[in-house]
Amino acid sequence: MSALASAAIADNPWLAASVRIADVVTEFAGVATYYLQFDEPARATSYGYAPGQFNMLYVPGVGEIAISISGGLASREGLAHTVRVAGNVTQSLARLGKGDSLALRGPYGSAWPLDETRDADIVLVAGGIGLAPLRAVVEARLDGPSPRASTTLLYGARSPDVLLYDREFAGWTGRGLHLQCTVDRPHRLWVGHVGAVPLLVDRLSGIAPANCALFLCGPEVMMRYSVRSALARGVRKEQIWVSLERNMQCAVGLCGHCQLGPAFVCQDGPVFRYDKIEPYLDVEDL
Ligand SMILES: Cc1cc2nc3c(=O)[nH]c(=O)nc-3n(C[C@H](O)[C@H](O)[C@H](O)COP(=O)(O)OP(=O)(O)OC[C@H]3O[C@@H](n4cnc5c(N)ncnc54)[C@H](O)[C@@H]3O)c2cc1C
Repeated sequence: MSALASAAIADNPWLAASVRIADVVTEFAGVATYYLQFDEPARATSYGYAPGQFNMLYVPGVGEIAISISGGLASREGLAHTVRVAGNVTQSLARLGKGDSLALRGPYGSAWPLDETRDADIVLVAGGIGLAPLRAVVEARLDGPSPRASTTLLYGARSPDVLLYDREFAGWTGRGLHLQCTVDRPHRLWVGHVGAVPLLVDRLSGIAPANCALFLCGPEVMMRYSVRSALARGVRKEQIWVSLERNMQCAVGLCGHCQLGPAFVCQDGPVFRYDKIEPYLDVEDL
């Protein structure tokens, strides 16, 4: 590629860049994390993202999908994207391996308000693969200059076998994360909680409602009930942020597929402050 072309790509986030799969980690059946590195060093240097944003990944000849950025660096081990097999594009991606090529454009969308909540006790509430866009928040908070405020992760999954990133849990708790996990169906060695995630919000202790912030991502029913629990405990709507998924195509606010009330999830979201999006949370995807 010419120097002119690579400079154009570095300056224009609408243009897709060629990336290579540097590594693939199978999380559990049907879910894998892809570490992607840019082919062009200039693109790796200029690329930056904020936790909560997403990229559009293009599988050549198949199609393009929105996938959250789950951490990592463009210039080093690669940008992490954790993907669950759903349909055509994700199935094709699952057939690719280390060394294969994709195209990536982004980052797009809004981010978790990490600066605004810097001195707050942050409670991350995640269900299933909804932990993916929160992984970069965990890393940012634990890597930050020893924040006075705490970080808690309340995480639920169907069973202990499908807890995302569980190999990283010991490292996270060792660096100060307060972690509580719950599952719907325990096995006989399970020593954590059993039941729905909102129950963990109900029982959470040691957090003052006035100085906390909640970041939620997962099935919308889980988020609705968790928000209800938090509000009942005195947390204000303005202290709560949710990450939403809607069927998305262009990612730049043109096609209208992801419209939710007055907002486009691709541009105004995926991270919304709860009071701004509350009336539209019950609207089904189209
Ligand atoms: C901002 C954003 C971030 C996302 N982050 C991730 C991520 O980190 N990891 C991940 O695995 N997936 C993520 N997704 C969902 C991902 O984009 C879809 O699973 C993917 O587009 C499915 O493509 P496909 O061709 O494999 O399946 P399709 O054949 O397009 O779809 C399979 C089924 O999933 C439904 N579907 C497709 N997209 C969505 C959606 N966005 N919301 C609800 N239902 C949908 C379809 O209606 C269909 O029933 C994200 C979506 C958005 C909008």
